[in-house]
Amino acid sequence: RAKADGRATFRFFEPEMDAELQARRSLEIDLRKALANREFELFFQPQVNVRANEIGGYEALLRWRHPERGMVSPGDFIPIAEDIGLISSLGDWVLEQACMTATAWPKGIKVAVNLSPVQFRNKTLVQSVSRALARSGLAPDRLELEVTESVLLQDNELTVATLHQLRRMGVRIAMDDFGTGYSSLSYLRSFPFDKIKIDQTFVRELSSRADCLAIVRSIAGLGASLGMSTVAEGVETEDQFLQITAAGCTEVQGFYFGQPKPASELTHTLAATKRKAEVA
Ligand code: C2E
Ligand code: MG
Ligand code: MG
Ligand code: MG
Repeated sequence: RAKADGRATFRFFEPEMDAELQARRSLEIDLRKALANREFELFFQPQVNVRANEIGGYEALLRWRHPERGMVSPGDFIPIAEDIGLISSLGDWVLEQACMTATAWPKGIKVAVNLSPVQFRNKTLVQSVSRALARSGLAPDRLELEVTESVLLQDNELTVATLHQLRRMGVRIAMDDFGTGYSSLSYLRSFPFDKIKIDQTFVRELSSRADCLAIVRSIAGLGASLGMSTVAEGVETEDQFLQITAAGCTEVQGFYFGQPKPASELTHTLAATKRKAEVA
């Protein structure tokens, strides 16, 4: 009996684990071919400057159109690309594509590019950024690099040195998903970021939790006194927008102002229905 159960268990679980592994392996194989097959595309989501009531920049968000699976989310394939050593060539493509695209926009509009912590470990990041700028001809101050708090967790000295090198080239540095790490405040001290992006979770719970508004207000105040702009991410409703701007954030980003879209669909103007916030 024991033997029969054992075999039953074996038969029941083994193929399932196999299937999971195989799915991952096949995604890895597809991912290795995706760049050459031109299956990647950048979408762009507007960041709205509250005071000027206009689009100040766009965040580039990577999309993978898989020939059979359809759109695969970056949350699913970026970690794989990091694991299999593909993130640097993919990241280079993103940098170059984003800079090229932005050269066609009105001069005041910036482009923000997300960087993986793994790109900081490979020593070629500074070179990749300067190559993307040189090839596209984009002014460095129109490029903003978004790093998450996790970037500062690893090899802090090297990372901070790299950030300074990038800053000296004239590009701007933003801290993404602020407030979700273990010691967010201490990271602000390790490098003088240009911008703080307040994580979506604080915005999402604005209406249900009073402490979220207090936290957003404090981060906006902190940004103001440190000379950093503050962006609230994930603004989906007019109510959130009004609360966020009253709290003092300088920029807003989220579905309320626009979903991420292909470059060909951008108009660089806000929908007329979007109400201007009262800014003191
Ligand atoms: P992120 O940099 O924090 O980007 C914001 C994410 O929030 C995007 O998801 C965006 O589509 C989504 N979002 C924007 N507005 C709203 C909203 O109002 N409501 C909600 N619920 N979501 C909103 P996406 O495009 O799936 O990207 C997920 C993450 O993948 C990004 O988070 C970023 O960490 C990473 N990622 C995306 N593109 C790249 C890339 O080119 N390179 C690297 N290394 N990472 C990337
Ligand atoms: Mg980002
Ligand atoms: Mg974010
Ligand atoms: Mg994120």
